[in-house]
This record gives sequence, structure tokens and C-alpha cells, in this order.
Amino acid sequence: MRIDILTLFPSMFVGPFDTSMLKKAKDNLLVEIYVHDIREYTFDKHRVVDDYPYGGGPGMVMKAEPIYTAIGDIKKDLRTKVVLTTPQGRVYNQELAWELARTEQLIIIAGHYEGVDERVTELVDEEISIGDYVLTGGEIPAMVLVDSVVRLLPGVLGGEEAAEDDSFATGLLEGPQYTRPEVFEGMSVPEVLLSGHHANIARWRREQALRRTKERRPDLLEKAILSQQDIDFLKKLED
Ligand code: SAM
Repeated sequence: MRIDILTLFPSMFVGPFDTSMLKKAKDNLLVEIYVHDIREYTFDKHRVVDDYPYGGGPGMVMKAEPIYTAIGDIKKDLRTKVVLTTPQGRVYNQELAWELARTEQLIIIAGHYEGVDERVTELVDEEISIGDYVLTGGEIPAMVLVDSVVRLLPGVLGGEEAAEDDSFATGLLEGPQYTRPEVFEGMSVPEVLLSGHHANIARWRREQALRRTKERRPDLLEKAILSQQDIDFLKKLED
């Protein structure tokens, strides 16, 4: 997969993209990530990327021309998905992360100031918000998209099943996890996890996921695929 990010602040990506899972994925050629400075796509003497809003109002608006030029230059083919980060977009979730992970090339536009000239949306396939709050720029949202997408690419996480067990992947939140020591400050690891009995452990994990989802995100249960055993367990929790 190839990911291109258009930003006015490329230096913000140094660090997050050179650490941990993203670094490994890049080093192992599982993803190519290019950060482009939108200013490089201006042709005037002062390399202007923003201007005052028509009709007045506070702040500056990012100009359409440099973004059009950049996308024209970077976009490989018609299947490329162009995403605009904006608090007005579709709210990001794991399902959308899977959708993006299936694309060959993803171009992410990071807005800034008051946002981008509306005419940019003509080139955009999806407007995405990372939540109902407003950030200063689209750089952090772009990092959120990249991180959540890259970890879904084949070969990126050591065990393929790691992403499959994550919260949301199964439609449920993931249950609690423990590591050594067996007893810490008087708190013991649940017996079943020490039993070595794989079927019992799997059932316990499923029940913990159901319990946690019911407590914290009951809305998710409406869409989750549940077995009769799951439904019976959830009913028992109500008794
Ligand atoms: N004036 C815009 C509005 O009210 O919708 C907000 C602009 S915001 C200060 C600047 C940029 O930050 C946006 O163009 C977008 O790229 C990014 N941004 C801010 N909050 C975001 C969010 N929740 N999700 C995705 N992008 C966001």
C-alpha cells in the first residue's frame, strides 16, 4: 500500500512515522509513506498557500490550487482514495479503517487554519472526522488514520490474529489482559488463564468481551454477531 499525506507542516510527521510499528512496516516494505509539503506545489514568488475568506470572517482558508496541483501530481490512478480530514466528515471507526486498508493508494489532505477552500472537496472521495472536537490541523488526524490502517496490512503485526482480536474487530470491546507476575499487590491473574485449557480460555475471553461491551458500549451489542451461547450469557448478566 502507498500512503501520501499533503500538509503544510511535514516536520510534524518526523517521529511518529519513524518509531515502532510504522517504522517496522516501512522498513519491511509493507507500506510506502510519503509526506508532501503543499507549499512545494505553489508557483508564485511568495509560495502562498492560504488567503482570506470571501465574505469576511476570522482566520485564513487554504487555497485550492496547490492542493489540486499536488493531487494531480501524486495520484496514481482512478482507484486511489483521496481523504480530507475535517471535523465535518464521517466519524472514523474500525470499519472505515478496514475500508481504507483495502486501497492501493491513499492520499490524505491535512487541513489547517479555517480549513480548505470548498472546491477541494471535488477531488475528495471521503471526508473523515476523528471525533466531535476541533483540532488545530489535520496532521494528528492523518497520523491516526495512518496508524490504524497500517496495522491492518498483512504482515505488519507479528501474529496476524492480533488485529482480529482487537476491540471493535469482532464488534465487541476486547476483554482484560494480564502478564507476569501471577500475583501483583495481592491481585491474582484469573485461574482460567493459567489452566492451559485453550477452549476454556477462549470462552472466558469471549464472555469478558461481552461483559465489558455490555457495561461500557452497549450500543455495539446491537450490531455484533452473537451466538446463542453469547445471548444466554448476556441474559445471565441481567439476572
Ligand atoms: N473551521 C473548520 C470547521 O469548523 O469545520 C475547522 C478547521 S480546523 C481548525 C483545521 C483543520 O484541522 C481542518 O481543516 C481539519 O483538517 C483538521 N481537523 C480539526 N478537527 C478535526 C477532526 N475532529 N477530525 C479531522 N480533522 C480535523
